[in-house]
Amino acid sequence: MYLSDSSDAIQIHLLDWFDTNGRHWIPWKLHQNGTLAKPGQRISPYGIWIAEVMLQQTKLQVVLPYWRNWMKSFPTLNDLAKSEEHDVLLQWQGLGYYSRAKRIFYSSKLLINLIGKNHIFDISCWPTEVSQWMLLPGIGRTTAGSIISSAFDLPAPILDGNVKRIFSRLIANYETTTKAQKKLWELSFTLLSKDRPRDFNQALMDLGTKVCTPQKPSCSFCPLQNFCDAYINYNPIDFPKKEMKKIISLQKIGIGIVFNNIGEVLIDQRLESSSMGGMWEFPGGKKMPDESIKGTIKRELKEELGIIVKVGEKLLSFEHAYTHKKLYFTVHLCELVSGEPKPLASQKLLWVSPENLIDFPFPAANTKIISELHQYLSNGKKTLNH
Ligand code: SF4
Repeated sequence: MYLSDSSDAIQIHLLDWFDTNGRHWIPWKLHQNGTLAKPGQRISPYGIWIAEVMLQQTKLQVVLPYWRNWMKSFPTLNDLAKSEEHDVLLQWQGLGYYSRAKRIFYSSKLLINLIGKNHIFDISCWPTEVSQWMLLPGIGRTTAGSIISSAFDLPAPILDGNVKRIFSRLIANYETTTKAQKKLWELSFTLLSKDRPRDFNQALMDLGTKVCTPQKPSCSFCPLQNFCDAYINYNPIDFPKKEMKKIISLQKIGIGIVFNNIGEVLIDQRLESSSMGGMWEFPGGKKMPDESIKGTIKRELKEELGIIVKVGEKLLSFEHAYTHKKLYFTVHLCELVSGEPKPLASQKLLWVSPENLIDFPFPAANTKIISELHQYLSNGKKTLNH
């Protein structure tokens, strides 16, 4: 028997499980007054859209405080569209993948055009088609499906990592090829409850987080046990095939905190075309083989800012992991010896008083440096030489 023949039974089992065990507290899935949406009721798509983009590559627990702060700073689409990119990046600071913040900001204007300026508070005027949402940069089919099913309770299928894993196990599908993905999409569409699509999609995500986990699925508690080929006939953790992990090398980075004679520090704004474009950082760069870290800082600041510095004491060193690379930062305090700083490899340079650094959006690694610098200065060590 094909799984699609059991779709009614699967929906009943999964939704029963969800009613008792689902994460019914996720704030963007609730009405503004905090109540649960009933089947067919609509929820504001604005908060759901922001949450769905934040959730791309990021875990729910990490997203929650960011989402709450975001909704305080930009409570409506209009507030977001009227803000400055600087403020949007500042709000996103620490969440990573900063291009998402820029795309949201850009998309806010696209959405206003799509909906019509005078209708943005009318939920019924927001787009309800997957293809319309996919016109926004960075919105793929699964994000669009999740927004539409969550906000409007319409039957739009999803296929995020959790759902892929559950379906792969249900049909004991090992492959991750395009053909296999197509099959999983078809399954997501066929099994989706047409009466409660919002709850069904959320139930899949909750099941993937709480029960059908990657390494230790709790099959004895799973409502889909009787429909699961991997559970009945194989070892579930073998499905789907694991992607080979790339070996990540550690790159050493030297950073200079350059003080001027009034105690300000030098920061630069990354080029728009670079990763984390538009964010601010302390100058520095990659250590070359056979170079000391102090030598790296001296060379990088000469190449990127056209200045000569005297590299002083070490402020801190730490490792910071990104998904595709690991960096080991060593940060030294520096004294400007000669030259007028120029943005030779960045879009802008600023001298900023240390207490005002919090007004600029920095990548997560730099926020560690700022907090250590504040600690250092609060201990009475004003600057390198002051
Ligand atoms: Fe996942 Fe086990 Fe449930 Fe199958 S029975 S869907 S492997 S938790």
